[in-house]
Amino acid sequence: MAETTPNHTQCVSGWAARDSSGEVTPFVFMRRENGADDVTIKVLYCGMCHTDLHYIRNDWGITIYPVVPGHEITGIITKVGGNVSNFKVGDRVGVGCLAASCLKCDLCKNSEENYCEQLQFTYNGIFWDGSITYGGYSKMLVADKRYVVHVPENLPLDKAAPLLCAGITVFGPMKQHNMLQAGKKLGVVGLGGLGHIAIKFAKAFGLHMTVISTSPSKEKEAKERLGADNFIVSTDPKQMKANVRSLDYIIDTVSAVHSLGPILELLKIKGTLAIVGAPDKPMELPSFPLIFGKRTVSGSIIGSIKETQEMLDLCGKYNITCEIELVTPDYINKALDRLAKNDVRYRFVLDVASESKL
Ligand code: NAP
Ligand code: ZN
Repeated sequence: MAETTPNHTQCVSGWAARDSSGEVTPFVFMRRENGADDVTIKVLYCGMCHTDLHYIRNDWGITIYPVVPGHEITGIITKVGGNVSNFKVGDRVGVGCLAASCLKCDLCKNSEENYCEQLQFTYNGIFWDGSITYGGYSKMLVADKRYVVHVPENLPLDKAAPLLCAGITVFGPMKQHNMLQAGKKLGVVGLGGLGHIAIKFAKAFGLHMTVISTSPSKEKEAKERLGADNFIVSTDPKQMKANVRSLDYIIDTVSAVHSLGPILELLKIKGTLAIVGAPDKPMELPSFPLIFGKRTVSGSIIGSIKETQEMLDLCGKYNITCEIELVTPDYINKALDRLAKNDVRYRFVLDVASESKL
């Protein structure tokens, strides 16, 4: 059992990686008591984001083991603290990547707390009480009310879970760059967890949607199941050339290093490339496609809680949910292997509450 701080009195079962081997095993640990500003959540589902894999394998060199991953969490509130008025027992809620921020800086006050210098994540973070945060690959979570959102009644909690990270991460740049205008042409690089939700938002708002992918096998489904209008195989120079200067915006969700030059060429003049993927090494950014195309490259991390609630409410309104493979916890390691091999349509979601042998 992990060492804990004094008020960490609640015993929780979960799953953790102990080293960079990539394997996740059962882990029992302690969470804090439900404080006045906290809610306790029975975790029902947790999406398996590629970021979990980056942390489990220590790709970024910042993992604190044991790490309990998971930041696409949905569940039901079982307890609320005395200062909590916007949630009650029984509410269907979600928790994403944010566990704490300073609450005092301009960014926090301006609902941009995802850029607060003291931001702490749902796992592998250090909470206000000095404890290391553990994520949603676990049966129960205690969260401060400021980092919890309501899940609309019409969204199933399993198919909504990936919205808490993947959804808000693609919605963030869409909002920032005012992409969601009918008739505009959007491209998404990488058809994985993040990428497939980008298509759903784009189609709900009447955009023309192009997928830029390394996997020809995904074309049929991208068009027929997800509604993409165009599909470019990025390893085929002919297809890339045929689509030069065709897109208003591109969101790049790729988890591995790749050259940005050929992608920039797909943008119209003054187009914007928004990077959200987080490869462990720097990527090649040639100046010619930037200067000859007056193009912009930007980046963003998830979104604020206010934006996350706004995004979820839109998903409720437009009935946007994720395409998932629901798996039991004894499948975690297999799912991680398949995620690493780009073999998922399009997000694994852990059925955390299910009985499992692991
Ligand atoms: P994912 O489901 O694994 O999807 C990534 C996609 O990238 C794959 O489906 C694949 O699409 C493409 N890809 C993979 N390896 C590639 C390679 N070597 N070259 C070119 N394309 C490749 O991952 P995800 O959960 O969507 O996450 C994607 C990235 O975003 C990760 O790095 C993650 O850490 C990061 N992320 C960032 C934020 C943020 O706030 N900025 C939030 C969440 C996640 P194709 O088969 O179509 O090529
Ligand atoms: Zn994530």
